[in-house]
Amino acid sequence: MDENKLKVIFIGGASRSGSTLLDRILGEIEGFFSLGELALIWEEGFAKNMLCGCGKPFKSCKFWRAVVEEAFGGFEEINPNKILELQRSVARIRYIPQLLFPPLRSSEFQSRLSGYAEILERLYTAVRKVANCDVLVDSSKAPPHGFVLREIKSIDLRIVHIIRDSRAVAYSRQRKKRNPAIHWKEAYMGTSSVLKSAIDWDLSNSFVRLLGSIISHYHIIRYEDLAVQPRETILKLLKDLKIESLNLDFFVDERTVNLGPNHTASGNPMRFKHGKVEIRLDEEWKRKMLAYKRIAVTALTWPLLLRYGYFWRR
Ligand SMILES: [Zn+2]
Repeated sequence: MDENKLKVIFIGGASRSGSTLLDRILGEIEGFFSLGELALIWEEGFAKNMLCGCGKPFKSCKFWRAVVEEAFGGFEEINPNKILELQRSVARIRYIPQLLFPPLRSSEFQSRLSGYAEILERLYTAVRKVANCDVLVDSSKAPPHGFVLREIKSIDLRIVHIIRDSRAVAYSRQRKKRNPAIHWKEAYMGTSSVLKSAIDWDLSNSFVRLLGSIISHYHIIRYEDLAVQPRETILKLLKDLKIESLNLDFFVDERTVNLGPNHTASGNPMRFKHGKVEIRLDEEWKRKMLAYKRIAVTALTWPLLLRYGYFWRR
């Protein structure tokens, strides 16, 4: 890694693929800092004041207060709705052609993209300083966010593509699950139809792969391998990332991790878990998913399922 650059590991893929688990595990490594889904910080943290991973409302968290002070001079100095507008005007799937090929950008698009990239750069630089860490782990997953990170020249970007069986993802996105980050009322994680999940799975995984093809460091891991052999999978990933001689003593045994406090900006409710957490493979879909839904998702996603070995491996 280039020692002067800010090292960012971007975890990309479809939602409900185990990215929060991977983010939390990597965040336990000395010198690593787990950001959670940073792309959602403007909406969920700045605008809605949802819970930080430490359990405090975002704007009351001492860590983020220090970061925002360092990056922007305080919460009152920025308008989150303006930044959200800026983010939505560049970081979307529909803008991937422009993000991929600079000659396709209009001067207005380029100026919005540079403006948003500059805001992100200030935020990441401040996190690095306040957390005193070498590597930031960002599990935003959404490919457009990864493409925007590529624009920031002071970032040494590594892509970790996490993939999970599309049927498991579609099943998970239909389950009703509490969202404790919305602390002022009883709220649930968003659900979606299996068709929408299947299309989103195809697009997210294809675009992360595309991003990986233009970045020199791209690594893919399967959720199923992470869940069955977490320690071994993490060791292999770190080796691929060329990060060596690291202390993984937060692994109590092969499949149990001791998770400490964190300040993840957004993500799966799993980010609120602390202490010893046993990692288990969630395969409820194999027993409970209705056959017609399973067939529909398989029919829509089979090329990538085949490519990533879901038909011939466990
Ligand atoms: Zn916090």
